Amino acid sequence: MYDVIIIGAGPGGIFSAYELSEKRPDLKIAVFDAGHELSKRKCPIDGKKVKSCIGCKPCSIMNGFGGAGAFSDGKYNITNDFGGTLYEYIGRDKAMELMHYVDEINMANGGEGTKLYSTAGTELKKLCMQNGLQLLEASVRHLGTDINYVVLGNLYTKLKEKVEFFFDTRVQRLTKTEEGTYIAEYEGGQAEGRNCIISVGRSGSKWMEKVSRDLDIRTHSNRVDIGVRVEIPALVFSHITDELYESKIVYKTKKFEDNVRTFCMNPRGIVVNENTNGIITVNGHSFEDETKKTENTNFALLVAKHFTEPFNDSNGYARLSNMLGGGVIVQRFGDLERGRRSTMERISKGMVTPTLAATPGDLSLVLPKRVLDGIIEMIYALDKIAPGTANDDTLLYGVEVKFYNMEVELDHNLETIHKGLYVIGDGSGVTHSLSHASASGVYVARKAAEEL
Ligand SMILES: Cc1cc2nc3c(=O)[nH]c(=O)nc-3n(C[C@H](O)[C@H](O)[C@H](O)COP(=O)(O)OP(=O)(O)OC[C@H]3O[C@@H](n4cnc5c(N)ncnc54)[C@H](O)[C@@H]3O)c2cc1C
Repeated sequence: MYDVIIIGAGPGGIFSAYELSEKRPDLKIAVFDAGHELSKRKCPIDGKKVKSCIGCKPCSIMNGFGGAGAFSDGKYNITNDFGGTLYEYIGRDKAMELMHYVDEINMANGGEGTKLYSTAGTELKKLCMQNGLQLLEASVRHLGTDINYVVLGNLYTKLKEKVEFFFDTRVQRLTKTEEGTYIAEYEGGQAEGRNCIISVGRSGSKWMEKVSRDLDIRTHSNRVDIGVRVEIPALVFSHITDELYESKIVYKTKKFEDNVRTFCMNPRGIVVNENTNGIITVNGHSFEDETKKTENTNFALLVAKHFTEPFNDSNGYARLSNMLGGGVIVQRFGDLERGRRSTMERISKGMVTPTLAATPGDLSLVLPKRVLDGIIEMIYALDKIAPGTANDDTLLYGVEVKFYNMEVELDHNLETIHKGLYVIGDGSGVTHSLSHASASGVYVARKAAEEL
């Protein structure tokens, strides 16, 4: 019997455990994660022997201590403008206060010395406006993949003294007892908690759906963002990335008035595969370490789609690209414009050396016309603030999909209709970023610490 069981050791779960153990060291806390502990997490893709995803179970990129964020670029965006809608539940000021608090903890655990970028007072805002683009407001703490790993390691060292961790332990079933406690069943055992915090992220989305059904918690279908990852010479974007590191720029297309936005910018970084429930999509990250930096910058261009019933399988787009390309497809912008498939030869003669081994292909066979038209329009709009973006040799990798979990019905405490059962982080559908997921963890930990 525990006071609190936490399911998921991603940023949401970690910060719940951290705050609970700080505020109430007397409580007995257990954290369960389907993946490995941090030091044992290793993706076998090495670009030589293993070139693409071999479908490990559990996937070390998405599961284990640190969650989906463990090998991420560690960009903590401190803002209510993107990254989730936590502020709708807890208020804008509280959300900002908690994101700053998370930043302080990261700084105290190995992140000190990393740079905090800000859009405040930037000239780029004006330049964007003059060209039909909108620059969203944010402060960005860039830990980098390497320092992010150090911070996680330090947090784990502290936490394991106070909290019981169960790795390689996928919770299969969650039930509520007549006494109002919660039982988490896993292979070979079960644990009971007076309170339960679910923080299963995107990789736990299907499981979260099942738990919601079993416990009669209402959910709302959500959105999916579809698009491509753009890779260009770092110099083309350096005037933007040197000042802001990560800029979120939104463009409203002339044709359909759809919003296309930049997402997850990685100056001098690499493009990587991402595996969500067996489907290979594309993502990117970069390192703080100078020796690991590349000549390229990458970022995603995404179009948000809100699907309504009966459509419920947004994975279909990614599956189509996997079917055609055996994984991720890469295409030169010039080839896309000319309506032809890219070839290895044309790519190798281009100015941009790809940082991910993807299959040269034709993205127009995968992405819906409306989405692709929007992306092309946006590339030309970005070309006005960063000439060279619309170059023929610019590489587009597809598809990049941001799956948003369905939104779980929660009150302003992020508590379900069941007392003491909280759902936080990306698995709740409320957040989609490191800082929002972490802040939601701190928030419920404080609530639970008060209530227990
Ligand atoms: C490659 C990559 C780069 C990214 N870069 C950034 C970035 O720079 N900035 C940013 O803000 N965001 C980034 N993100 C997104 C960010 O990682 C997530 O928003 C964040 O990790 C969400 O935290 P979470 O705790 O809600 O869930 P997660 O981090 O997904 O953690 C959930 C955990 O729950 C576990 N789990 C799932 N189901 C079960 C179960 N049934 N039983 C037990 N355990 C379970 C999983 O193993 C996982 O460890 C990136 C994501 C990826 C994949």
